[in-house]
Amino acid sequence: DGTRTGYNRVLLKLGGEMFGGGAVGVDPQVVETVARQIAAVVRTGAQMAVVIGGGNFFRGSELQERGMDRARADYMGMLGTVMNCLALQDFLEREHHIETRVQTAITMGQVAEAYIPRRAIRHLEKGRVVIFGAGVGMPYFSTDTAGAQRALEIGAEALLLAKGVDGVYTADPKLDPSAELFTEITHREVLERGLKVADATAFSLCMDNKMPIIVFNLLTEGNIARAVRGERVGTLVAT
Ligand code: UDP
Repeated sequence: DGTRTGYNRVLLKLGGEMFGGGAVGVDPQVVETVARQIAAVVRTGAQMAVVIGGGNFFRGSELQERGMDRARADYMGMLGTVMNCLALQDFLEREHHIETRVQTAITMGQVAEAYIPRRAIRHLEKGRVVIFGAGVGMPYFSTDTAGAQRALEIGAEALLLAKGVDGVYTADPKLDPSAELFTEITHREVLERGLKVADATAFSLCMDNKMPIIVFNLLTEGNIARAVRGERVGTLVAT
């Protein structure tokens, strides 16, 4: 509307692990915290789409290690993400009266809409939060990749990667106490330094298409809003 500064349309990628609060299943308290922050952002007029992981239920690679067929295990992983989507939808609508639509990459008409990019954009323009489930709908991919791909396809201006750490460090801060946080870094430098921001497929999609990535700590209240307002939060990865 011309009066907002910062981003008009973003894609927020949430890891599933956080949704579970460290356990299998959904932790309502975490979902409520996330829903409250998303609602606050949407009320400012920003458009927000969300991709949620499924690590709190199943990861295909882990099930494969325990003997399952990889593709089938990956489908289980994708179905897990849909449960997270429904949980977030519930909290956004019931507690915060924010209109939402869930769109899934695997069709399940009783539960959610199918992923239809132009319809997703229409929902966003109407102020609805669009929650994308089931990743990209294909085994051997990740929800990080879904985040990057959806961000590109719906014309988001940035990919917001919500993590359990403050951003991108020179080394793993849990292992190396001297690790330093980057406030800004280029895609190329992330590659050259061998830093991990997202998985390789997701990251190269962003780099090839100049999609900025903001990596920040989800557990710091207000961080989503700060990132959307364009304030410095966590690490900005930009070309
Ligand atoms: N998955 C998949 N294709 C996709 C997205 C996800 O096969 O496009 C599967 C994969 O098995 C993955 C699981 O779903 O391990 C859960 O997603 P992810 O690991 O990305 O969740 P997160 O780590 O973000 O919680």
